[in-house]
Order: sequence, then C-alpha cells, then structure tokens
Amino acid sequence: MNKSEERDRPRRRLFARLAALVALALIATGLIRLAIDADERDPRPRGTLEDVLALRERSDLNVLFVLVDTLRAERLGVYGYERDTSPNLDALAASGVRFANQVSQSSWTKCSMASLWTGLYPARTRVTRSPDVVSPEARMPAEIFREAGFRTAGIWRNGWIDPNFGFSQGFEVYLSPRSQRRRDNRLQRIDNPNITLDGDDGDILFSAFEFLRAHRYERWFLYLHMMDVHQYAYSEETALFGNSYSDSYDNSIRWVDSVLGHLFRGLEEFGLRENTLIVFSSDHGEAFGEHGGEGHARNVYGEVTETPWILSFPFQLDPGIVVEARSENVDLWPTVLDMLGLPALPDADGRSMLPEIVAAARGETPAEGEDAGLAFAQIDQTWGRTREGPRPMVAVNEGRWRLMFRAGSPERTELYDKLEDPREQHNLVQQEPEVTERLKERAVGYLKSPPPPWGEDTPSIEIDELQMNQLRALGYGVQ
Ligand SMILES: [Zn+2]
Repeated sequence: MNKSEERDRPRRRLFARLAALVALALIATGLIRLAIDADERDPRPRGTLEDVLALRERSDLNVLFVLVDTLRAERLGVYGYERDTSPNLDALAASGVRFANQVSQSSWTKCSMASLWTGLYPARTRVTRSPDVVSPEARMPAEIFREAGFRTAGIWRNGWIDPNFGFSQGFEVYLSPRSQRRRDNRLQRIDNPNITLDGDDGDILFSAFEFLRAHRYERWFLYLHMMDVHQYAYSEETALFGNSYSDSYDNSIRWVDSVLGHLFRGLEEFGLRENTLIVFSSDHGEAFGEHGGEGHARNVYGEVTETPWILSFPFQLDPGIVVEARSENVDLWPTVLDMLGLPALPDADGRSMLPEIVAAARGETPAEGEDAGLAFAQIDQTWGRTREGPRPMVAVNEGRWRLMFRAGSPERTELYDKLEDPREQHNLVQQEPEVTERLKERAVGYLKSPPPPWGEDTPSIEIDELQMNQLRALGYGVQ
C-alpha cells in the first residue's frame, strides 16, 4: 500500500462514521428527507424585477446571510470555473442576481469583515491590525435588523470575528458552535492529516436549524460564517478533484457547497424559502502562487480580493440577472438595506447597487472597462506583527486599471490592465506613467480618508494567549 492509500484508509473509515452520524442527526431532527430528488421542483413562485423592487413592501421577509470564508470567485462553476465545484451555489445564482465583478476590501478576515459590515473602507474602519476592534459606536446591520423587529443570530467559526473584536453588535445570539462529532470522528485537513479539525461547517448547519426551529414563525436575520474552505476540510464523499493543494481547495468548496445544499433544502422543509432573501458572499480569496505565495492576508492581488456575491429571492427570476458593473463588499449592506426599505448605514463608502441590478435586468450593460467610481482594497502587511509599525498596501480599481501601492515603498508600485491581463501578471507602470501617477494619488488620498462616523477613536484589545493560539491554529502568523 502506498503512502496516500495509507493516509486514505482512516479517512474512509472516518467518513463512514461521519455519514452515519449526520444521517442519524438529520432523521432525529426530521428536517431533511433522506432521499432528495435532484430534480425536485423549486417551491418558489416565478418572479420579476418588479417583485425585486417590491420587496421593501413585504412585511414577512427574513434574511439569511451566508458567508464562506476564503472563497475565490473564479473557483465557482457559476463564475466560469471548468470544475463542478458548486452545483448548489450555481443553482442559487441561476434564478437570482449574481455580481460578476466583486471586490473584497481586504484579504484578511477581520479587516475585510469590518468593512463588509460597516460599508466603510479599511482606511475608515481603522480595523487593520490584529489588536484593532470595530468600535462599539459603529452602526452594524444586525442592529438595524434588531431595531426593525427581526430576531438576530450569528453562527461563526473564525476567531477573527469573535465578540472581543466588536462583531457581535446587534446579534441576540452570537456563537461559535460546539462540534457535534466525537473526537475520533471529525474531519481532517487534507494538506495535513495530522490536524483534526475541531469542528466543521456541519456544526453551523446544526445550530442554524435549531435557531430556525425556534424562530420560524417570527421575522429573523441569520448570519452563517462558514470556515471549511479556509481550513481545507476533507470529506471523501465530495473529494472529486485530486490531491494537490489547489485540488484540495476545490474539494473543500465542493464539500461546503453540499452543506449549503442541505441548508437550502432545510429552509424549504421549514416552509421558509418563499419568504427568505438569501445573501451569499465571501471575505476574500486564496492564492496559489500567482504572485509568489499561497494562502491570503499578505497582499491585495486579484486572486485574494475577487469574491462572489449572489442574491437569491423568495421567488425565481427567469432568467437570473448578472450585474457586470463592478461592485464591492462595502456595497453589500447598502444594497440589501435599500432593497428591504430599512435605514441605511451612516456615511457609508459603499452604495446601493439596486440601480445596477435594474440596468442589468433591462439589458443595459456598461461598456467594458467603463464603470462608476473607484474601488479600494487594503492590507496592512504587518497586521500580525504588533511590534512593527503599519505598512499598508492598497489596491485601486478605476475602469480597466488596477494599481498596487505600498505606502512604505512607492517605488514598488504596479499597474495592471484588467481587460487585457485579468490575472495581474504584466506590470504597466513604465508604459502608462500618467495612469500610474493619477491612481497613486488616489491611493495616497485614500489612506488619508476622513474618520468614520463615530470619530477618531479606534479601540483595541490585548489578545490573550488562549485566543492567540486559536488564531495560530487557523494558520495565521500572529506574533
Ligand atoms: Zn477570512
């Protein structure tokens, strides 16, 4: 028996036990029929753009926000990937709205999520280093939902969005679920079978169903932050694509997609699909050597900042709408709150993309390379090394151009033509000095952005050793 077979055998055994356990849990909760016909008719009625615009008049609507950590858009079928990694997400997008050119605001979870929730760029949230905390004065979407009478819950598995860092604001329940599996029955990391994962996204599903069972007759806002793609979780049932690091990433996407399939069918079983808006996105992508390194949280190239964003309605759009105009994670809540007629986030950098949805539905696509305004992404390259000073790297999108600017070393500026060179491989700084200068000024101006609505105060905490170890276990180099 060769090494990989040796490694596979315990996995097969683990998976058999896992499958039995999940099946028992599902039978016990009575949520999901065991035999699910893939062609089962979608229970939702047909809808049109007018129904999208009328969502704000509905008083029965729930919101399910699913975020898959570390999900690079181009690895999903519906974003053009040749592998069948995401059948459930593809189906979701096919009858909803898909944003084809989405930019996340950072490649590091905490920085990115602070911007996603507040609608403010990292230069304004000032959550850019490991001790930084989202201000308690920040206005968060869960607070808006809570005030509007929704029951609110967040279920998550990434320590960077711990309540300590200010992310629980507005949530009645905000928890990291306990593993439902026995210690010898847990998923493993494919790239390191010695690491047994403490839990997996099935635990999130379990807690989500508990919440829905308790609150199905009320209005609710439920946020699920999935972590198994970040952790390269291995499940034999969904391992279709080989053994390399990059293949393993695809396998974990397929696994999480299958978990999401159970989630969406569970919603149907509860009779909730016809009054639930599903919002799907990610906080950043993942690199596989495109600019020298693997992983994320080191720079802001396209492979770590181009993420999916999908909206799925209580009705099916036929055909679905694809928004080609560039959008950003800071636009996500301004759009959804606008769509639902709820109060806006104060002084947000993001904006509602509802006009772009309407334009796309009417076939009015922007010309290639033409789009409204700028987009920014930022990472502090010393975010985890608190003894060193800040070293921000900023990406600026303008039309077809994307600039990389490092505040500490402006001579290393890079410029890419996203139309000709979507993977950012050919630096055009020499050929395009005027564009370079213009965007450099934008980057410098961005770093001097005005303070957030809550003022200059940036709270921070000391991360204790226990929490530090948990974060290290995620693979982050925190010192
Ligand atoms: Zn993340």
